[in-house]
Amino acid sequence: MGFDVVIIGGGLGGLLCGNILSREGFNVCILEKNNKLGGSLQTFGRKACVFNTGLNYTESLDDGQVLNQYFRYFGLYPKLPLKKLDENGFDVISFDDGRYKLAMGHDNFRDELVQHFPHEKEALDNYLDTIRNICMSISLYTFSNRHDNVFVNKSIGISAAGFIRSVISDTRLQNVVAGNNLLYAGHENKTPLLIHALISHSFIESAWRIPDGSHQLVNMLADNILQNGGTIYKNARAERFVSVNDIIQSVTLSNGERIDGKYFISNTHPEQLLHMTESRKIQKVFSYRIRNLEDTIGMFTLYLVFKKKTFPYMNYNFYHYNQDNVWIAGNYDQSRWPQHYVLMTTATSKSDQYAESASVITYMDYNELEQWKDTLTGKRGEDYVRFKNEKARILLKAMEKQFPGITSCVEAFYSSTPLTWRDYTGTRSGSAYGVLKDCNRPLESIIFPRTKIPNLFLTGQNTNVHGILGVTISSVITCGEIIDINYLINKIRRA
Ligand SMILES: Cc1cc2nc3c(=O)[nH]c(=O)nc-3n(C[C@H](O)[C@H](O)[C@H](O)COP(=O)(O)OP(=O)(O)OC[C@H]3O[C@@H](n4cnc5c(N)ncnc54)[C@H](O)[C@@H]3O)c2cc1C
Repeated sequence: MGFDVVIIGGGLGGLLCGNILSREGFNVCILEKNNKLGGSLQTFGRKACVFNTGLNYTESLDDGQVLNQYFRYFGLYPKLPLKKLDENGFDVISFDDGRYKLAMGHDNFRDELVQHFPHEKEALDNYLDTIRNICMSISLYTFSNRHDNVFVNKSIGISAAGFIRSVISDTRLQNVVAGNNLLYAGHENKTPLLIHALISHSFIESAWRIPDGSHQLVNMLADNILQNGGTIYKNARAERFVSVNDIIQSVTLSNGERIDGKYFISNTHPEQLLHMTESRKIQKVFSYRIRNLEDTIGMFTLYLVFKKKTFPYMNYNFYHYNQDNVWIAGNYDQSRWPQHYVLMTTATSKSDQYAESASVITYMDYNELEQWKDTLTGKRGEDYVRFKNEKARILLKAMEKQFPGITSCVEAFYSSTPLTWRDYTGTRSGSAYGVLKDCNRPLESIIFPRTKIPNLFLTGQNTNVHGILGVTISSVITCGEIIDINYLINKIRRA
C-alpha cells in the first residue's frame, strides 16, 4: 500500500507540510536522511548545554501577529516555550564607534533611533510604512482570501539597499536599519526589498527565543504528524524517483527500499531533483536553470560553553561590524575575516542572569574549504580541525574588543562550517538559506512549488523565503497545490 503524500526531508518545510496534509486526512510519510529530524532546526548537546544550529530567534509571535496565528494553527502556541527579547533593543547594531538599538514596535523603533538621528524622523516613518505596507500586501501575511504567491509582489524587483538609500540620507542610519541582514545574508546589489521588508518588519513587530532549544518545535511538529496517523522514517535517504509516463510512482531509498505514493513533496535543495529523476520534463526545463542558480553564502558558527556564572545572559543579539558597510555577503573579504559577527547568548529556563552558552555567527566562503570538499563530517582530518580552531581564535580575539575578558569565560568551544551544513542538510555548498533571491533577475531566482511533473511539488526555504516565517508561508503555498488554498487560509485565520 502506498502513501497519499511522501515528503522528502524532515526539515521545517517537510514537517509543516506533513502537519497540514495529515490534519486534512492525507496518509503522509516523511523521509529524513539523518537520524534526527529538523534539518536546520536541529540542536546538539555539549557539556550539558543545548545548542541551536539554525533557529536562534524568531519573529511576530505576540497575539494578533502573523507567526502567532500560524503557530496557533499548528498547535504550537501557547505550548511552545518562548522568551521575548528586550522590547527596547532586541538587536544591537554595533560599529567600532557607536551602538544602536533596534526596538520592537514601529513607534518604539523610530523613537529609539531618532535619539541618534533626529534629522531622520520622517525618513524613518517612510521606511517603516513602506516595509509594513509590503507585508500587508501579501495575502499569506494578512490571511486574506486573495491568494498570491509571495513573489507576485513588485518589491521583489527592487533592491533593498537601494530602497534604504533612497529614503534615508544618513549613511550610518542606512547601515543600522539593515544591520541584522545576516538574517537573510543580505547582498548589497541583489537582495530584494521584499525579503528585507518581510524579515525586518516581522522582527520589529516582536522577536523571541525558544528557551532550552529549537528541537522542542521539531518534536511537537513530529508528534502532531504521528497523532494524525502519519509515518516518519529517519535514516531514510531518498535517492531515485521511479516514474511511469512522467508520473512518479515511488521513491527508492539508499537501502534499496521503495516507498510508493500518490503525491511527492521535496523539502530539499532543488538541485537534488536533478540527481533523483531521469524525467526529460525536469531535466530539459529545470537543469540549466537550477545548475546556474546562485545560493546564499554559508556561515561559520562558534559555539561557546561558558564557565559557570562568568558571562551575562544578554536578552538581545549583538551584531558587530568592523567597517562602515553592513552589506558583507556580496563584499566578502577573506583577508579581513571576520568583517562582522553576531553574538547570541542561549536562553535557558535555568537562569536569566548568566549565560551558560552562546553562538557566534559570521559568514564563510565555501571556497576556503576547497581542500576538504570531498570529506565527510567527523572525518576531515587534523588540518581541518586546526583550520577551525584558528578561525575560532581569530573570532574570539575580534570579540575581545567589544567584550573584554570573554575568552577567559570560555570553558570549551565547538564550531561548524558550511561543510557541516552541506553534510547535515544536503544544501549545495553549505549555503545558509538556499537559493539566493536576486532583484535583478527576480523571475529566474524564484522557484515555484509546482514542477513539470504533475505529482511532484517543492517546499522549504528554496521555494519562497527562508527562515521560520518564510518556510511556514512556503509550506502553506505548497499544500495549496494539493488542497484548496482559500479553505486552508480560512482554517489558519480561525485557529
Ligand atoms: C546558521 C543559521 C542560522 C539561522 N538562524 C535563523 C534564525 O535565527 N531564525 C530564523 O527564522 N531562521 C534562521 N535560519 C534559517 C532557517 O533555519 C532555515 O531557513 C529553515 O530551517 C530551513 O528549513 P527547510 O525545511 O527549508 O530546510 P532544511 O532545514 O535544510 O531541511 C531539509 C531537510 O531535508 C533533509 N534531506 C536532504 N536531502 C534528503 C534526501 N535525499 N532524503 C531525505 N532527506 C533529505 C535534510 O537532512 C533536512 O533535514 C538560520 C539558518 C542558518 C544556516
